[in-house]
Amino acid sequence: MRLTICIVVLFAAVVGCKPIPEKKSGLEDNRVSIQDEGPTKPEETELFNPIPPKVSIDANGVPDDAIVLFNGKHFDEWTSAVDSTEVKWVLNADGSMTVKDKTGDIQTRRNFENIQLHLEWRSPSKIQGKGQSRANSGVFLQNRYEVQVLDNNDNKTYVNGQVGAIYKQSVPYAMASRPSGEWNTYDIIYHAPEFDDAGVKTKAATITVLHNGVLIQDHFEIQGTTEYIGWPKNEPHGKAPIRLQDHRDNSRVSYRNIWVRELD
Ligand code: MG
Repeated sequence: MRLTICIVVLFAAVVGCKPIPEKKSGLEDNRVSIQDEGPTKPEETELFNPIPPKVSIDANGVPDDAIVLFNGKHFDEWTSAVDSTEVKWVLNADGSMTVKDKTGDIQTRRNFENIQLHLEWRSPSKIQGKGQSRANSGVFLQNRYEVQVLDNNDNKTYVNGQVGAIYKQSVPYAMASRPSGEWNTYDIIYHAPEFDDAGVKTKAATITVLHNGVLIQDHFEIQGTTEYIGWPKNEPHGKAPIRLQDHRDNSRVSYRNIWVRELD
């Protein structure tokens, strides 16, 4: 064996052996030839695999690979977050639902981790309350991390708790709300945190949020649970529901057209 290695080393030294370039991207599988000076033809950097799956969008803007969580017809995908009984929020004739005060949060029956989430929400046109008590609700990713829903139109509050904030952690880049009483969209890209076998967080959750198409959170690293009082907590967890908040102060916030795509 030692003799073989010596012969190989000696041969390489004699003929001037060139190191093989390291693989750095998916392009090497498509590479026609490896040349020290890099690609010289356009086809050497063109990929034909993997072919992305085709996704069709229906008339309501829902991709055909999405899980529809709420289409205005029923609460089949939801349950009470308080006691796992039937949802007590109001199902409206216009295909939306409205928080029923003091009946508690609702959450999806399914558990999720990495997702693209679309939802639409509306604060009531009849103004009531101020600060955090004006149409306060929220979207909790994995049952823990809140994207704030609030009527901030002419309604001042602490900025890390305003509409579009990652509650008490990240101020949104903009206040992109439509006037009170009109529908808003949230499009959220969320990647779950990771924990090691000892339960220590090894990778922070990240979140990107578009509010009515405006980027308001850009790959923010979530620090832990979004606490009303106290610092974020980082207990290990796996897949978990999406939860919508009943702030228990007659928020009258409505939701509609909620769908999610699971990301690998
Ligand atoms: Mg809230």
